[in-house]
Amino acid sequence: MSVDRASDPCSPSDPISLSPAAWTCRWLKGKLQSCQRATCCMKVNFVVSCKIGCFEICFGNYLNALPLGVAAPVCQALEGRSPFCCRSHLFTVLHVALEVAVYAEYTWEVFPYCWELEFHLLLLLLPYLLLAGNIGCFVLCSRADPGIITKSNHASLMKIYAYDGALFQKGVRCPTCDMEKPARSKHCRFCNVCVHRFDHHCVWVNNCIGAFNARYFFFYLFTLTVTAATIAIITAAFLIQVVLLTNMLHGSYIDDQGQEQAVEIRFLIQHLFLTFPRIVFMLGFVILLTLLLGAYCCFNLYLALTNQTSNEWHKSRRSGCSHHPTLQPCDRQVVYKNIYSKGAWMNLKEIFKPPTVLEKEKKT
Ligand SMILES: [Zn+2]
Ligand SMILES: [Zn+2]
Repeated sequence: MSVDRASDPCSPSDPISLSPAAWTCRWLKGKLQSCQRATCCMKVNFVVSCKIGCFEICFGNYLNALPLGVAAPVCQALEGRSPFCCRSHLFTVLHVALEVAVYAEYTWEVFPYCWELEFHLLLLLLPYLLLAGNIGCFVLCSRADPGIITKSNHASLMKIYAYDGALFQKGVRCPTCDMEKPARSKHCRFCNVCVHRFDHHCVWVNNCIGAFNARYFFFYLFTLTVTAATIAIITAAFLIQVVLLTNMLHGSYIDDQGQEQAVEIRFLIQHLFLTFPRIVFMLGFVILLTLLLGAYCCFNLYLALTNQTSNEWHKSRRSGCSHHPTLQPCDRQVVYKNIYSKGAWMNLKEIFKPPTVLEKEKKT
């Protein structure tokens, strides 16, 4: 994202055309110098300013112009609110709200209709059982330590994985945590910590996914996909049953020109949508969710079977070009080879039972 200087009201080409807001903005820009949280503040304001304009840029600069003791808490408050910069509960709340909306619709309409149509009770209760499992995995995943690297566990975590010399080089230090990065670790800018076997930061569970909670994330994703698929199947079965019982497919309707037409799929979907608007809307949503989550679940299974993290997968794909700053330039480029894979079964086992130093020492 970049600010177009020509359209930036803080920097108009003609000083006479400066509005009072732009003048204040320019004056404040000159004032801002020091704020420990300036980088984060600028990120927050950058995101907002791209959408709204000069006021936010002025606001950001004003924060930085404040005495440090005042600016820092305001910056921290802004950090907490920005889902793009630091840890935030925004996506977790959105996630819960969507789940509540789907389950409310299922309980309120789909369940009673299906019960009337004599669907099996166990089938109708299955989404609730899956929800209970999903909530359990969600809590474990968001609460568990993903593998935060601290001064006390740093030495032992350094021994777990070898440096591959391509994606992970020996001797690279994390400037924030001020310690050498163990192989396969990464500093998370949301949590502001280095994480062992870093996969990614998940905004939906509001936690990093690392060596010690990857298994919970895997189950969480799996139960969520199966839950969405189950609700989609039950709802679709209900609508199909309605169509079959009313013998709608063999009926006809009068079109705008007064002609009698046989019922086709488009008319059927329109009719169902007008009769059960919320149910059809929810069905569309859960089908989309099932497809997206199913694809992501398959991708995660592929990563688990090949012993790669999302971070490594992205990095290895970019390693073909020289513009990635942490990798070797093209002329002396190191060909990336995944040295961590030990066969599909052992790789899968590693997700559910991350290796410890003791096991590592036993093997050597
Ligand atoms: Zn770090
Ligand atoms: Zn994180």
